[in-house]
Amino acid sequence: MNGPAPALSLNHADRLQRRLRVTGIVQGVGFRPHVWHLAQELNLAGWVRNDAAGVEVLVEGEAERIDAFTQRLRQEIPPLALVRDLSWTDAPATGDLSDFSIGESAAGQAATMIGHDTAVCPDCLAEMFDPADRRWRHAFVNCTHCGPRYTLTRGLPYDRAQTSMAAFPLCPDCEREYRDPADRRFHAEPTACPACGPKLTLVTPNGQAIACDDAVADTLRRLRSGQIIAIKGLGGFHLACDAHHPEAVWRLRERKQREEKPFAVMAANRASIADWVELDEGEAELLQSPERPICLLRKKPSADDVFPGIAPGLAWLGVMLPYTPVHWLLFHEAAGQRSRCASALTNPASSSRGQPAGTAWIEQPQDLVLVMTSANPNGEPLAIDNGEAVARLAGIADALLLHERDIVVRCDDSVVRQVGDPGLASIQFIRRARGYTPRAIRLPRSGPSVLALGGYLKNTICVTRGDEAFVSQHIGGLDNPAACGMLMEVTQHLLDILQVTPTVVARDLHPDFFSSGHAMALAERWGVPAVAVQHHHAHIAAVAAEHEVSGPILGLALDGVGLGSDGTAWGGELLRVDGPRFSRLGHLAPLPLAGGDKAAKEPWRMAAAALHRLGRGEEIARRFPAQPAAKQLHHLLQRSLNCPSSSSLGRWFDAAAGLLGVREVMAYEGQAAMLLEGLAEQAGAIAALDKGYILHDDGRLDLLPLLARLADETDPIHGAGLFHATLVQALADWTERAARQHGVHTVAMGGGCLLNAILSHGLRQRLSALGLTVLEARQVPPNDGGLSLGQAWVAMQRSRYA
Ligand SMILES: [Zn+2]
Ligand SMILES: [Zn+2]
Ligand SMILES: [Zn+2]
Repeated sequence: MNGPAPALSLNHADRLQRRLRVTGIVQGVGFRPHVWHLAQELNLAGWVRNDAAGVEVLVEGEAERIDAFTQRLRQEIPPLALVRDLSWTDAPATGDLSDFSIGESAAGQAATMIGHDTAVCPDCLAEMFDPADRRWRHAFVNCTHCGPRYTLTRGLPYDRAQTSMAAFPLCPDCEREYRDPADRRFHAEPTACPACGPKLTLVTPNGQAIACDDAVADTLRRLRSGQIIAIKGLGGFHLACDAHHPEAVWRLRERKQREEKPFAVMAANRASIADWVELDEGEAELLQSPERPICLLRKKPSADDVFPGIAPGLAWLGVMLPYTPVHWLLFHEAAGQRSRCASALTNPASSSRGQPAGTAWIEQPQDLVLVMTSANPNGEPLAIDNGEAVARLAGIADALLLHERDIVVRCDDSVVRQVGDPGLASIQFIRRARGYTPRAIRLPRSGPSVLALGGYLKNTICVTRGDEAFVSQHIGGLDNPAACGMLMEVTQHLLDILQVTPTVVARDLHPDFFSSGHAMALAERWGVPAVAVQHHHAHIAAVAAEHEVSGPILGLALDGVGLGSDGTAWGGELLRVDGPRFSRLGHLAPLPLAGGDKAAKEPWRMAAAALHRLGRGEEIARRFPAQPAAKQLHHLLQRSLNCPSSSSLGRWFDAAAGLLGVREVMAYEGQAAMLLEGLAEQAGAIAALDKGYILHDDGRLDLLPLLARLADETDPIHGAGLFHATLVQALADWTERAARQHGVHTVAMGGGCLLNAILSHGLRQRLSALGLTVLEARQVPPNDGGLSLGQAWVAMQRSRYA
């Protein structure tokens, strides 16, 4: 054997061998070819392979080059990869390795993760819109840097056989790309081309194929003429119509029985939306991010003129950009028609139908704006199957644009909003699903695997593995059998792809929720404990978990309703949370829920409750003449008949909206509070009402003086502004007093009311100014969509102490 002895080789550090371990999102994202390219460039020998823990790399060569390789492995990673840890050990060079190869995967239990779905990447767009490319206008273009992942994968290891693309054998050209480490499609599991991939078909509402030259062109023609088209996407179907066609929008509302709920719209790019929404750089970045969420953007006054009936009365409009190739094809088709109208027929850089060649059009303003709403009739989960879609959407869609690639798991669009001060901008989730699921949230520490099944409304589930929590996509309200079915389906899918067996199951304190029942059934079947977690404790614990805080904190839970430890309905709580335990330091003064469950849907009833508490019950019937029940309500309130009380802040919002005449009966959950926020936006800066609230020594915060003032207010805009300003001051005062009394200076805010931007912004500013550290939900929604994370974290800590 030539060369120096191994020990000398190390000392002189000339040549060595390094074994590296990379963990994180490193499989199915082009990580191995990336490593291969780096090794080629630096002239290093060795290999790279996937294994249960992530990626393992062995390199041999000059020490200096190996250091450069290690540094670049940290700094330059493929767009969809996320490196969590990089560690290595060195050994003397052997001289046995002559080249660098990509090895087969080593078997073993999975500790890695399937990636999230992302929008078409710029390289794929360039191919799609190049008439000379074999993927010209291909509706299923993707590569290792983009496309579907989570929604088409059944389990690990992540390879084509485990995806719904298994049904489409690769053609020789695609096969060559798939096998070539130098190609962008090396092991791109869902790859396809027009020769071997799925096809698009346009069908009638009863499932008959519609004969047409081009399904995309015909879809666009129908949309332009005012039809409603169901379009199969990544994690479900959308119902689409032309946003510039008011009758079509109205028809969609009517057929979907979604009379007033805001719709989201899809536009080609940021240049196309500048006239009707405010957009700063941070928001533009969010909108254009590969996750492609629906972003709530502040409406300009012109928005309601341009799109009447899309988000009536609200300050915000949900906007997203195209993310699947099919979306892009529709906008491309529309851009072609536009250029044809502009007599661009002679333009050599366009196809026979006038569709622009190249990608320049992608940046230019386009007039096509589509309403895109989840195809979930009756609030049930998204339709995903072609047959199911035809059956369920027949009465709503005029035609359906289908394709042959199966959706493995339902996944809605995510909804986000930029929050925080400029420069520190971060996002708040309103709904977390496509693009973000199943990304892990790191917990403060490791523990037993927990399955948490969430609550009732806006439900999600959460599974933990080690120190990572995986919160599922939005499942929705468990008020229908289909949603309950989806809860079970998503639970199984998440357990399958994580390959864990939970040793604890967590649930809400309320035993009657479907999620609670299912949790208890699973716990019994698996022979593991079921831990019940109080609703608002879970809200605060979710925030603590994502901020990796385990010490004592104050928790300000501003919410709709959740079952309290004392059996009453809570929802405006000041808690002290210490690991798995909590105590209730204070709560909002309760209001009677006049008429029980109906009170949560009919703000006039909460207004009546407030009038009753103000000793003005005799005004109820006079103030609400349109409500037949109004005559009886004073009587019922006096006798406390069917009037359980609740400390929910959501109901105080409803009471304010009812007193100001903003809304008597809600068309959807949270509507009154959202309209009130919209009015307060118009009011501008308003000072808090002097003596507008009472802080009792027992920890109760009573806002009754504020409501007394609102009961006599004639201007709803001023009233809404006054309500918000006084509420922020009252809550901040309350929290600060508790912080002083208990010597705890970190406050976590959770609960659905924090989706109100005036409230969350106001509290953040004021509490920070008082010297408190404010923590908010940033990786999951503050509403019940984040509950499962909090339950999981509490249950994990409890089982540690058990
Ligand atoms: Zn791509
Ligand atoms: Zn092919
Ligand atoms: Zn809640």
